[in-house]
Amino acid sequence: MYFKIVVCIFLFLLRIQIVNAQKALDTVETNLGPIILFSNKTWSYYNKNAFNGIMNMRLHKIMTDEQSAGFSQKWNNDVCFSTKNDLSKLKDTIWLCVTDENHSEFVMPVPGIVTSRYGFRSGRNHNGIDLDLETGDTVVSAFSGKVRYSKYNDGGFGNLVIVRHYNGLETFYAHLSKLLVHPDQDVKAGEPIGLGGNTGHSFGSHLHFEVRFYDSPMNPEEIINFDRKNVKSENLFVHKGLFKAGAKPSTTHDDNFVSEKPEEVVQTPKPPVAIKPQTKYYRIKSGDTLTEIADRNNITVSKLCQLNGIKPSSVLIPGKSLRVK
Ligand SMILES: [Zn+2]
Repeated sequence: MYFKIVVCIFLFLLRIQIVNAQKALDTVETNLGPIILFSNKTWSYYNKNAFNGIMNMRLHKIMTDEQSAGFSQKWNNDVCFSTKNDLSKLKDTIWLCVTDENHSEFVMPVPGIVTSRYGFRSGRNHNGIDLDLETGDTVVSAFSGKVRYSKYNDGGFGNLVIVRHYNGLETFYAHLSKLLVHPDQDVKAGEPIGLGGNTGHSFGSHLHFEVRFYDSPMNPEEIINFDRKNVKSENLFVHKGLFKAGAKPSTTHDDNFVSEKPEEVVQTPKPPVAIKPQTKYYRIKSGDTLTEIADRNNITVSKLCQLNGIKPSSVLIPGKSLRVK
């Protein structure tokens, strides 16, 4: 029996505290992110050490609690997987608010159709979902959050942006042609984070989109309806079953959700092939009468009328066809 823990997502107000005795003169954008220039001619990364990676304190407490979960999560701008957690060992069911009053928005990262789903593919696990795009198309953040990673990844992702969200999830945007954000940057849902491309292990332009919870991937279709381009539900019940390799999205009470047909659906047996009655038509010629046509085709006038939904008094129009068998 699962011990259910209800987690409500509260906005964790990020307070940037620059602990430095020197007077900050200016902030300057660099290719490594914004830096602060101090009056003593030193500089430091803006916000670099002020953020501990915790977007949602209540959730984080539950996830790191030794009794209930015992997982960890780091804030690392240099590696794409910040921590190794095996969420298939999660003991409890955790209620996540995917969207809430403070962070209500979800925006599709790109409008393109799904070209490859989550699950086993070519003997490997495809940990995300592929969405069609053209190189140069704008890719936006699905939810509001903070950029954890934004650089080229030589493990196959190519140019990769990872955003950690207030709802406790991280989303991955891979194969980008251009990065538009830097680590530690706050982004809103729908804010451009990169341009679509074909970098890394990719054959043809597309967005490889992953949804991860404490570094473990889950089927993005668990939370997003890619046909309707919205979230399936405001709530997500996170349990260990979501992290089984190749897990299909669970069923939902949302009537609007259109899922792939589950494999276990019993196929209704096909009806035996019906023997089609042979049909035959006669094209009416000028001067024809129903009696003549019926005689010529060995049926009665009433049968002829019944087959064609006409009356014995109906006017016959030359060129039209009558069913005679
Ligand atoms: Zn992919």
